[in-house]
Amino acid sequence: MSLYDLNRVVVAQVREAADIVAVIGEVITLRHRGRNWLGLCPFHGEKTPSFNVSRDKGTYYCFGCKKGGDVIDFVMETERLSFAEAVERLADRFGVSLPLASPEARRRRDEQEEATAALEAAQVVFSRQVHEDRPRAFLERRGVSPQTVLEFGLGFARPDWRALTDTLRGKLAERTLIAAGLAVQGDDGRLWDRFRDRVMIPIRSLRGSLIAYGGRTLGDDPAKYLNSPETPLFTKNQTLFALDRATRAFATAERCLVVEGYFDCIALHAAGFGETVATLGTALSEHHARELARRVRRVVVCFDGDAPGRKAALGALRTLLSFDLEVRVLLLPPDQDPDDIVRSEGGEGMARRLAAALAESDFLINEMGPSREDRRAALRGSLEIVDACRDPVRRFAMREELARAAGVPVEQLGEVETPRIVAGRAEGADRPPAGEMAILRGVLVDLPAARRAETVREIPLDALDHPLARTIVRSLQKAAGEGRTLEISDLWSDIDERDARHLLAALEHEAPETSADDLQLILRGLWEKQRKKKLAHLNSEIARAERQKDHETLQQLLQEWLLLSRRTTPG
Ligand SMILES: [Zn+2]
Repeated sequence: MSLYDLNRVVVAQVREAADIVAVIGEVITLRHRGRNWLGLCPFHGEKTPSFNVSRDKGTYYCFGCKKGGDVIDFVMETERLSFAEAVERLADRFGVSLPLASPEARRRRDEQEEATAALEAAQVVFSRQVHEDRPRAFLERRGVSPQTVLEFGLGFARPDWRALTDTLRGKLAERTLIAAGLAVQGDDGRLWDRFRDRVMIPIRSLRGSLIAYGGRTLGDDPAKYLNSPETPLFTKNQTLFALDRATRAFATAERCLVVEGYFDCIALHAAGFGETVATLGTALSEHHARELARRVRRVVVCFDGDAPGRKAALGALRTLLSFDLEVRVLLLPPDQDPDDIVRSEGGEGMARRLAAALAESDFLINEMGPSREDRRAALRGSLEIVDACRDPVRRFAMREELARAAGVPVEQLGEVETPRIVAGRAEGADRPPAGEMAILRGVLVDLPAARRAETVREIPLDALDHPLARTIVRSLQKAAGEGRTLEISDLWSDIDERDARHLLAALEHEAPETSADDLQLILRGLWEKQRKKKLAHLNSEIARAERQKDHETLQQLLQEWLLLSRRTTPG
């Protein structure tokens, strides 16, 4: 959540202040073409430019891949930022000062800044101590090179109860050390270090700032690994270890590797698999999957082959499929983790195994058991997993493979269940039909007067096929009914803002201009279509009333039919 109050007015200010041509011009080369700017689309490969930028309208639109939006969308897409992050970045760059959300938000920001300062101070101490004998011996034994120690900022927390607290006391308030998750308050009120006798692994946010630690014990602590508690900076199931570094490698690797352990992840990075991230001792969450889906198409899940590992892999597969990610699963022998493999077989050994990772349905079939009987028994559960996939073509293909493996005719599987986890919609794919686009273009872009006038009331709502078009028209009609004029920005409260902005960009750049005459003609056509539908419905009702000899209803229906068939104009 943003610390700033990003209300509609502020967002509009940012959008206004940001020069879309300057922002996009940093990513692609733009050439002046009439009133617009033209360049090669950064979102799909092309040789002839079809990417349009309009400085007047503040929007971009690609005629090739249909992506479009405003300057905020562009920054979100290209920099992989959330809406709030994109607005903050643009505000910063174009000198718009954002109002803080509330005293509460201000307090939270101060707390976060203090916690970050405490973690940074601890990092200085930990990384100085990593060269001491015990941590150095441990890291050498695990094959972690000094360069990797430096790159990941590995450190060491001494075994003493108050080593860190005593060092930082005086520089930082006790409550800050507690809030940062570095110290714990005992019953006697005194502080002691949370992390003792552990190799310290810094956990960073997407932007690379320090948010937490993982600690690997060097002693006999039964908790081999210990993470920071949840703090204002750190939410475990929203964080993937090394995602900040891995993001850079996704484009060339064309995949992401997900492993379970810090040292597996670190070892894989060192062996050349920079596209690796690790979950922090939790299941792969929807939040994780969403973050990955924003960056990469394919995910290779590389888990332990024991029972908990297999279960985790099934869960991860389901979650990743629900975000339409392509998934491969590599289960390792129970006594080997990626760290061991890299050490004994090198990067090539790991690459060989990764090449043999199983595709979604192959993995599921494997897990269903060797015989048809086993597979039939497990079929229902496996289908439930593939049904999470939102892409109907892939879903059907996977269902078919599972059914074949279980010896069940695919027709017997029954209805495909709709996925329960709903991910972000694909952009640009789902547009209203041309006639409805023309109406929207008319009332939203070309004919602002039509929004005010009776015109919007004449739009037959039931004749519109597209839900977004219906929602917009309904809002317009409601406002008109209350004697208000709806501004385009008001629509955002009723519909998903991104949907609205993509639609608006498509309207402005793609749909031909709608004149007042066009609009009347289209509305007339819609009304006619509506009238025919109603007449057809009445006809069947009349036939039924005749069969049932229900004379009263029949009279009533005939009256209606007569009235409607004679009417040649709306209203
Ligand atoms: Zn494109």
